[in-house]
Amino acid sequence: GAPLATTCAIAAAATKGLFIKRPDTVELLPTVVAAGLDKTGTLTTGEFGVRVQEKFCNSSFNADVMKLAAALEMKSAHPIAAAIVSEAMGCIGEANEHGELPEVKGFRVVDGVGIKGRVRVESSFVHVFVGNKRVLDAVNATPVQHAKFTNFQQQYPNDTTVAVVVNKELRLGLALNDTIREDAAQMVEELYDLGCDPRIFTGDAELSGKTVAAAVGIDPDICHFSMKPEDKYQLIRELEAEGKPSLMLGDGINDSKALAAATVGIAMGERSAALAAKTADMVMITNKMIRLPQCIRMCRFAILMEK
Ligand code: ADP
Ligand code: MG
Repeated sequence: GAPLATTCAIAAAATKGLFIKRPDTVELLPTVVAAGLDKTGTLTTGEFGVRVQEKFCNSSFNADVMKLAAALEMKSAHPIAAAIVSEAMGCIGEANEHGELPEVKGFRVVDGVGIKGRVRVESSFVHVFVGNKRVLDAVNATPVQHAKFTNFQQQYPNDTTVAVVVNKELRLGLALNDTIREDAAQMVEELYDLGCDPRIFTGDAELSGKTVAAAVGIDPDICHFSMKPEDKYQLIRELEAEGKPSLMLGDGINDSKALAAATVGIAMGERSAALAAKTADMVMITNKMIRLPQCIRMCRFAILMEK
């Protein structure tokens, strides 16, 4: 069995909402010198609200675009999805007694981009693609459509922006705001103190990534943005190859490969627990982020006790 100090550290961490799966994590955690921090749902609460809806196209069909997007989002686990569904449900309201969303076929998640599928409109189906700017590349949008969306993004630099494309045409832009966790900045400061250089890994766009970086006290220039799950994994691999043992803190949904590759992979949030049980070394079910650096300190101490 593990030495007593290690066992005690694991038990103490658990009472603080940090579940350590293997005893060697207690030894590894104090060795980390870099930290990859996911943005959405990790540094932020992931509880989005739809702030702005901008129509890019005027036709009678417009009123339903939000419903088409929501029909797809019903099938997505991304934090953005819940906000879009509840906004659309609000639009449907009590006027429509069924409050139902249209039927979806061929739903697919496109990593680092968004979600797509066919959604029923009366007796036929339309192709709907919801996601970030990359959706426009995926459908070969015209330069005019790209320019419209870029302009929209620049109007809301602090928000996460989403494009809704129907039959390859940009129909709707959404600006969603997320909330940065209260003690995210404090955690970042503590990580620096511990000699564990934090950096942001996000699938979101440059502007919103850098806004969050600045808000939590990380140099916006070391914010890695528009990352696909594979990119997060590669970056962790690079850090490790440079001889920098790293921790990766993520929500465990799009980060599972990076979590598995890190010296210590930490999944945050109760929702992540099932998946994280397979890929992460630790699961954090508290939203008090400061407990992570506290845990690193405690593990350092436990290791000293054993020497
Ligand atoms: P993050 O690293 O910020 O947690 P993800 O890797 O989970 O981001 O997602 C990458 C990006 O893909 C998101 O920032 C968003 O722009 C887009 N995206 C993913 N899923 C959805 C969805 N269900 N609806 C709209 N956009 C999505
Ligand atoms: Mg995420």
